[in-house]
This record gives sequence, structure tokens and C-alpha cells, in this order.
Amino acid sequence: MDTTVLIIGAGPVGMTLAHKLTAYGCKVRIIDKNQGPTKLSKALVIWQRTLEVLDSTFDARRLIDHEHAYDVHGVLFQTPTEKLGEVDLKNSEGELPTGIFIPQSATEQVIVEKLKEQGVEIERGNELVSFEQSDDTVVSLIKDQNGETHSITSSWIVGADGAHSQVRHGLKLPFEGNTIERRWLLADISIAEEQNPHFMQAYFSEEGLVGFFPIGQNRWRVIIDGGEAERKGAPSQAEIQTILRTRAGNKWKIEESFWLSEFIINERIVPQYQVGRVFLAGDAAHVHSPAGGQGMNTGMQDAMNLAWKLALAQNAKDHHPLLKTYHEERHLIGERVVAETSQMIHMAMVHHPLVRRLREFAMRHITRTKWFNQTMKPKVSEIDLSYRRQELAQSAPRTKGRLRAGDRLPDEIENNAYIYRQLKHTGATLLVSGIAETELPKILGGNESNLPLKIVAISADGTLAEQLDLKHGGIAMIRPDSYIGAISRNMGELNDWLKTNHLAPST
Ligand SMILES: Cc1cc2nc3c(=O)[nH]c(=O)nc-3n(C[C@H](O)[C@H](O)[C@H](O)COP(=O)(O)OP(=O)(O)OC[C@H]3O[C@@H](n4cnc5c(N)ncnc54)[C@H](O)[C@@H]3O)c2cc1C
Repeated sequence: MDTTVLIIGAGPVGMTLAHKLTAYGCKVRIIDKNQGPTKLSKALVIWQRTLEVLDSTFDARRLIDHEHAYDVHGVLFQTPTEKLGEVDLKNSEGELPTGIFIPQSATEQVIVEKLKEQGVEIERGNELVSFEQSDDTVVSLIKDQNGETHSITSSWIVGADGAHSQVRHGLKLPFEGNTIERRWLLADISIAEEQNPHFMQAYFSEEGLVGFFPIGQNRWRVIIDGGEAERKGAPSQAEIQTILRTRAGNKWKIEESFWLSEFIINERIVPQYQVGRVFLAGDAAHVHSPAGGQGMNTGMQDAMNLAWKLALAQNAKDHHPLLKTYHEERHLIGERVVAETSQMIHMAMVHHPLVRRLREFAMRHITRTKWFNQTMKPKVSEIDLSYRRQELAQSAPRTKGRLRAGDRLPDEIENNAYIYRQLKHTGATLLVSGIAETELPKILGGNESNLPLKIVAISADGTLAEQLDLKHGGIAMIRPDSYIGAISRNMGELNDWLKTNHLAPST
């Protein structure tokens, strides 16, 4: 065996997976056919949920405090002549911001540096050609930059190789969905007049949508609905400037353009995230419209869901049952993201005058309601995601609190500090109320591959105990990705759940 896990693709998803697996003590190799990380701005937002889950092993401040990063404060909806409304995205629940604007090139650079510190070398100039899996191993055929081929044998491979995934092709999986037959334009520009870099801005007009996303230093990403026109190749700066004047008024005078491109939108997802010893994650598994900036975030969260499960399964003789929960939990989220971003983009594409007027009326009025702002913030920042209805949570003891197994643990104050500070380690956490520490297990796992279980006492009178239904004592097991694994009244109940899911330490 050359390695436990072989990751194909060192984009943000593959690198996040390599980081987490290494932090959890799992042997990993990562290859990429390119010579270096992307230099393009591509995905511009990292949302709170991605930052939170990264933060346990990777100080999210490295991204939040980056010289090119800005906290997200909101979205402005406008016509060329008036402001329609505003979504407030400031003051997130917890210690981390609702989101940050940061170019993907900077995000990738920060993760590359972290991998270097962990001693993980990305094997660049190495392309996966094909692979073959048996009951015990996967043998991958790799072509290096000189055209020479060699093989790598691993227990698992993960295809994080982007939208044109060779791993997905190798599995012969369909990429189900559709293409929106429409021309979209992209321009990264700098502008003469300073604009607030904490807000996205969307302009709606008769001619179509224009969206502005801050990249910092007076630079902006512009996304333009080019209508049903044929694709004509990259637009010129003059073409973009004319569109901006017509659809967004006079304040967007271009000084310089850095990237001009056209693209089409695909909305697709694979039916299976796992086939035997092969997994798919990120764009290899799902692609969709850039509305809401969810693409890279969803992919990085795929990686963080899979990492701790692979780490626990690494020495299993047979297929570890935990691994199938990756598809169960993440495919549903992928479907939701594809559907919701599709709704958003179709709403933005409306051209019928009556429907447009209705949309403007709705934006003027709904954005002023408390309900709208309270719903939008957890949705866009992805902190409302839950695995409550999936098998791992369903097998946990039934409880009656507001928080249940499968939900995200909120970043509440406990003992005068945010609880997520207690989750900064490389394992799972037991939040304990009124139970003697000596009764509690110290590790999670059952196949000679274990993760530490950190024990944190919480107050029976506190907010967390109330929400977790632990006022009268009990334990909440928080998974390494900070979702609630199980809530139980006593150690017996928790042990039963751990054993059912092969998470109990072997005796
Ligand atoms: C032009 C453009 C603009 C975008 N804008 C946005 C945006 O505004 N917001 C947003 O959320 N998302 C945006 N995205 C999407 C976002 O960039 C992706 O969601 C994100 O990069 C997905 O990460 P990934 O790691 O899954 O795949 P990728 O970033 O595509 O990385 C895949 C990696 O795999 C490597 N690879 C591929 N095949 C092989 C092989 N056979 N062997 C070895 N290595 C291989 C590639 O070289 C690459 O490094 C944009 C994408 C593009 C192309």
C-alpha cells in the first residue's frame, strides 16, 4: 500500500481534505495535473459554516485577517436609478463573521501554506489517467509531466478533480441535470469611484441582471446576464462598460480590467458520491449557478464531512458503515444547493415586465421585514444546514430540546467564552452536564484508528444545556465537524449509539 487515501486534485476541496486527514493522523497523498494553484479570483466568498468547521484544526483567522479579505455585511438590491432594498448580513451568531469576501487564489495560497506546515507535499504535474478497484485497494495509473506512467495503490481515492472529473468518468456516473442556454459575462475590474467593499450589489433592469462582488483594493467581479445570445467569446472592456452604464448608472467607471470571460451555467449532480472505495467531492460531484456563492463552500464542507469518517475507517478490515453516511448526508445538501441556486438565478433572469414589477415590489417590501433578514442570514452562511433526518442522527436517542442529533452546534457563550473555542482540536467533543468524568470514554473509534474525545463540562443552567435538553444531566457528543452526533441522558445510551455506529473504542 503506497498510502491510505489518494486525493486526485489540489483545488480548494482536495487541499481541505488533505489538511483534515493529516490533522486526524491519516496517511494521505495528493496529486494535481497543474503546476501550481489557481491565479484566478474564481470563488469570492467563504461563508461562516466553512470557516467554523475549518477552524477546529486550521486557524480561520488566517483567512479572515488576510490582506485581501473583507467581512460580508450585506447585499444591496437596486435598479439603475433607485435602491430597492438591502439584506443585512452583519453580526453573525457566534464569534466568526457571516462570511468573508476573499479571492479563491488567496484562499488556495493560505491552504497551500498550511499543508506545507503539516509536511504534505502536493505532487504536481501528475495526472490521473485511470484506476481500478478491488475489495481491498484501488490502483491508480498516473502520468507525470514527462509522459511517464506509474501506479499508486491506496485504500481509497477521492476525486476532487473538478467539473470535468476523470474520477467521475472512470466510475461511469452520469452528471444529471441541465445547462441554462444563456450567455453570461464575467469581468474583474478596478473602478474609479470607491464603493463599500463589504456589500455585494445586484442591479435589476429591463436588459437583465448585473451583480457586483468586491475583490478588495477597489476591484470588483462583475457578472452580467448576456441574454439568450449566442456565445461570442470573451467580451471587450468597452462592451462591459456600455452594459454597466445602461444597467447600473454612472458610478461604475472602469479603470482597468484584469479578467474578461464568458461562461454558461450548468446545474448538475452525480447520483452517488461513493462507489466502493472511490468518493467524489466538490465540483466533481456537483456544479451549479454562482448565485449565492455556494459552490466552493459546499465542496469544502463535503471534504470536512468525509475526512473524519475516512480517518476513523482507515484500519477497518471491511467497509466501515460510517463511510456510507458521507453520501447520505452530503448528497442531500448538494441537491438542495443545486435547487436553491437554480431558483435564485431563474428569479434574476426574469424579463417579463409584469413579473419584473412584482419582483421589485417584493424586494422593496420583503427586505424590510425582520423575518426576511432572520431567514437569509443562516441560509446564505450555511449555518442552518442539518443532518437531522439522516441515518447517523436517526439512530441516536430521541430528545426533546430545540437542538437534536444532526444539527449544527450553535456557537453559544458557555463559561464566559464561545463554545467553538473548545472545539479547536483534532477529534470529537463530549459536552457533559452532571456526569462523572471517569465514566466517559476518551477516544472515538473502534478499529485501531481513534480520534481523541475532549471532555467539556457545561453548566446545567446555561443556554446550551437548555437547548440540548441537558438541564437534568447528560452528554452531547459533538462530531469533529461540529455537528451534534448524539444527545443522551447517560453513558449507557451513548455507548449503545457508539456501538451501533462502530464508533465505540474496541475493548
Ligand atoms: C471562471 C470561474 C469562476 C467561478 N466563480 C465562482 C464564484 O464566483 N463563486 C463560487 O462559489 N464558485 C465559483 N467558481 C467555482 C469554484 O471555483 C469551484 O466551485 C471550486 O473551484 C471547486 O473546487 P474543487 O476543488 O472541487 O475543483 P477545482 O477548483 O476545479 O480543482 C480541481 C483540481 O483538480 C485538478 N485535476 C483535474 N483533473 C485531474 C486529473 N485527471 N489528475 C490530477 N489532477 C486533476 C485540476 O488541475 C484542479 O487543480 C468559479 C469557477 C470558474 C471556473
